Amino acid sequence: MSAPRKIDCQAAADRLYEYLDGELTPDAYDEVRAHLEDCALCFKVFGFENTYLAFLRARTRAQKAPEHLKKRIFEHILFDQDSAESQ
Ligand SMILES: [Zn+2]
Repeated sequence: MSAPRKIDCQAAADRLYEYLDGELTPDAYDEVRAHLEDCALCFKVFGFENTYLAFLRARTRAQKAPEHLKKRIFEHILFDQDSAESQ
């Protein structure tokens, strides 16, 4: 039994939607999960996308959410912690 292979942020991002949709192989899933445990930034991004996808699925009749709205929520989540730390 060996530890999951180390992957970088780009590799994790490439697998984001497959990860959230449960379409990865067990090995690939472990690699992404291991990266998320090490990488606070990717953890936030994945958490955001997961929440956002759930939001969209809950509104399947709605139009596609505007990109600027998605960007605003994304930036809020990513930079919220930074602004708190600077005070
Ligand atoms: Zn990362």
